[in-house]
Amino acid sequence: MALALAETNAAGSIALDVEGVSHRYESDGRDLQVLDDVSLTIAPGEFVALLGPSGCGKSTLLRLAAGLEKATRGRVLEDGKPITGPNPDRILVFQDATLFPWRTVRANIATGLEARGLLTALEHRIDEVLKLVKLEGFSNFYPHQLSGGMAQRAALARALVNDPKLLLLDEPFGKLDSLTRLRMQNELLDLWKSTGFTALLVTHDVEEALLLADRVIVLSDRPASIIAQVRVDRPHPRRRDDAGLVALRRALLEKLGISHDV
Ligand code: ADP
Ligand code: MG
Repeated sequence: MALALAETNAAGSIALDVEGVSHRYESDGRDLQVLDDVSLTIAPGEFVALLGPSGCGKSTLLRLAAGLEKATRGRVLEDGKPITGPNPDRILVFQDATLFPWRTVRANIATGLEARGLLTALEHRIDEVLKLVKLEGFSNFYPHQLSGGMAQRAALARALVNDPKLLLLDEPFGKLDSLTRLRMQNELLDLWKSTGFTALLVTHDVEEALLLADRVIVLSDRPASIIAQVRVDRPHPRRRDDAGLVALRRALLEKLGISHDV
């Protein structure tokens, strides 16, 4: 069943190019530079994790890729074409599941299809994604009846029902307890393998980045620029005590300015 989406999704992923992007916000007459000449390329189907200090501009970078904001300078491209606005091919998933409390799980997942007038044609996808995120028995539950992990799975399903080619994940498991977090990391990995989207994950958890990503990018303090990149050449499933990963963890923590005895 996990293949159901892949079968309907032959070209399941896109390439993302961030070219010389700088970004500033103006508020209350003050100018705040958050990104400083960031360039990165993500291959179709690649899983990249972004690490960086709080407030450095990580969420801003995801919003630029989602097309929710336009870079002050530089370009963000999808398969070589400039991103000019939001598109269901590129979906942002937040730390807070932000489900509509008055709608059932099923109705929450249906939101995007409804808005695009595709509900009748694609209603079967709701059942597919409910299965993918293991919520088939909970489609008529309301958000307040769900645990944190289930709510985040529903939020993932709501994204996946649109068959995104780029999934932008903004600290998606940040508020979950540590066991649920571990389970969700594995589930995200399974979803990525079975559906084939390109993934850009912002996390403050170095281990999470190393367990999931093909490549980890470290950003500096604001304004963020790229200070390090490591490729994680380890097959899945990965073990957190894998000697190679332990060495990478130490190197990444050092880049983040945290001494390696933590
Ligand atoms: P991060 O996700 O790395 O914590 P953000 O990208 O959310 O960082 O924000 C970077 C900086 O930009 C923060 O100082 C934040 O307060 C500021 N900021 C974010 N969005 C806006 C906005 N719409 N207007 C003004 N300042 C903003
Ligand atoms: Mg953020």
